[in-house]
Amino acid sequence: MIRYRICELKRLAPSAWLAELATLRDLLPAASPDLSSSAVARWPAHALAVCPRCGAFVRSGPAPHPSPCALCVAVPPPFDAARSLFAYAGDVRAAIVAAKYAGRPYPADAVALRLRETLAGRWKDLIPDGAPTTVVPVPAHPRKYFRRGFNLPALIASRLSRHTGLPFDPLALSRTREQGPQARLPGILRHENVERAFRVPRGRKVPPAILLIDDVYTSGATAEACALALKSAGADFIVVVTVARAVL
Ligand SMILES: [Zn+2]
Repeated sequence: MIRYRICELKRLAPSAWLAELATLRDLLPAASPDLSSSAVARWPAHALAVCPRCGAFVRSGPAPHPSPCALCVAVPPPFDAARSLFAYAGDVRAAIVAAKYAGRPYPADAVALRLRETLAGRWKDLIPDGAPTTVVPVPAHPRKYFRRGFNLPALIASRLSRHTGLPFDPLALSRTREQGPQARLPGILRHENVERAFRVPRGRKVPPAILLIDDVYTSGATAEACALALKSAGADFIVVVTVARAVL
């Protein structure tokens, strides 16, 4: 599945490559954002149209957008749906960059509350009624975890589990390879960077319905690799929720 989507990406026009390279701005020092709960409550959610399958931001039109994007029509992703609460910009981006690369505290609790509100509101149809959904974070490689002292998706997912009452399973997936930072790679290389990087630990029972949590959705490579591993191990239904989505 990923290989076909890589083929699609390889057809990107030069302008799209330039847009991918713009993600190199992640290497720049982050500003100092206001991380108070009241500030996070004011962060502007992305409320315009999105692809109903992969959650790609559509440049115009009301939400929800009626039809999937061209890439999802050509090659449906291995997850059932994906959504991102914010655009990866401004204080949203600065808070993530400051936490991941400068060790600043991240307002995980306030962000989880925003996610809970949205899941109960305009995203309420994402998860089928009555489905016993388990919150699963995108894992970090153990070496990276011990280097940073935390895994941001797990931090957010644990708070979301606490606020929603949904079960939390941080060990459903493990990361088998440590890669360079995804933020530094163009789209094609992001897919190759994470392909087969995740697996379900041997003998572990996978929850049937999963809310997969990550901090940033960029090319979708990480979400696709996680979803492939989980579905190969028996998961039926996977919704990917990220705090932010890169605007390319
Ligand atoms: Zn799509």
